[in-house]
Amino acid sequence: MKKIQMHTPLVEMDGDEMTRILWKMIKEELLLPYIDLNTEYYDLGLEYRNETDDQVTIDAAMAAKKYGVAVKCATITPNQARMKEYSLKKMYKSPNGTIRAILDGTVFRAPIVVKGIEPCVKNWKKPITLARHAYGDVYKNTEFYIDKPGKVELVYTSEDGEEKRALVQEFKAPGVAMGMHNMDASIESFARSCFNYALDTKQDVWFGAKDTISKTYDGRFKEVFQNVFEKEFKEKFQDAGLVYFYSLIDDIVARVMKAEGGFIWACKNYDGDVMSDMVSSAFGSLAMMTSVLVSPDGYYEYEAAHGTVQRHYYRHLEGKETSTNSVATIFAWSGALRKRGELDKNAELADFAQKLEKATLNTIESGKMTKDLALITTLKNAKVLNSRDFILAVRKELDKMM
Ligand code: NAP
Ligand code: MG
Repeated sequence: MKKIQMHTPLVEMDGDEMTRILWKMIKEELLLPYIDLNTEYYDLGLEYRNETDDQVTIDAAMAAKKYGVAVKCATITPNQARMKEYSLKKMYKSPNGTIRAILDGTVFRAPIVVKGIEPCVKNWKKPITLARHAYGDVYKNTEFYIDKPGKVELVYTSEDGEEKRALVQEFKAPGVAMGMHNMDASIESFARSCFNYALDTKQDVWFGAKDTISKTYDGRFKEVFQNVFEKEFKEKFQDAGLVYFYSLIDDIVARVMKAEGGFIWACKNYDGDVMSDMVSSAFGSLAMMTSVLVSPDGYYEYEAAHGTVQRHYYRHLEGKETSTNSVATIFAWSGALRKRGELDKNAELADFAQKLEKATLNTIESGKMTKDLALITTLKNAKVLNSRDFILAVRKELDKMM
């Protein structure tokens, strides 16, 4: 069989621990036998990040800007324990944070739906994609505890000295107060990412906030979304037969529970944090969740939603067998290869991505799965495979299709 050719390199960001082990197996067993893999490789493993003072992360993000599509393995975000474990020169920032700061954009997470792993919500038939605004609000707040009577005010002083002042509360007794903000530009790029992703994946967009209570703050989110939609997307949505609709967040939550899925749920930062955990666990598992960062300029970075699965890695280092789920990492690759194929008009590559996903799902539906899924499956004949054997089982399915 002639291997599939790639015209443009894909930016490959390697990572840490158990996911680094899976990464290598996926390449060797599921990609290299079929594709003349053309990647620009960046080693984001913690050791090499330390060696390069984290320059490699910046270089990788710049490469993603240059080529437009990247695939990333899970990476360690250092903490005190990791400082010691890896003798780090400093406590580097989260690579995801660094990459997001360079590319800007919105993270879209969607469950991988497969027969045998049934959502807790019985009417959910299609994936629900969560789009989380990743800037501001309570995540960049200023807050304090008030321990005696007094008043809290919100004061704004413009550069030319104009002042706006509003009373937050007259405290007669102890309590708490908080200030937070967001930016038009950030909300605009969030809206744009959501609408572009909707056109890309042919899904409606639902957005909810609380503008009845927060008339100015949440009201601004509603306005900005509406403006961006009217100006840039209305016609494209009409042509594609898609809908954007805004409602109150509580109304949206109620509708989501009754819906069958298949839409993008745009959430403000805090709502997205909370709701993505609810949606992902209701669909089954974090190991069955895709994640893609879409920048407003049209760059894409695909990854798994879970971490480096440290506990399994330590077992692996002890020479013990592991049964780590590689599905989200396989789908990060297939997502990136499909996007590369679309952008390069390389139908063969996009078609391969489709087959890789189908082979993965067929494997699970035939009862072969890793332990995490075997614990929750409704299939009667589930067989638990170790990390490698699962990937080999996918390869068998893939061979049948190629
Ligand atoms: P984690 O890697 O997501 O794993 C937490 C637990 O979830 C595992 O111990 C395992 O449970 C289960 N799990 C997660 N993924 C699984 C998979 N693919 N297959 C089977 N089980 C899976 O989170 P963590 O252990 O808290 O974090 C480890 C490292 O990952 C940290 O250093 C953190 O900084 C990093 N991290 C990176 C990213 C990223 O790069 N995107 C995201 C989150 C965390 P059992 O042990 O019970 O089997
Ligand atoms: Mg959370």
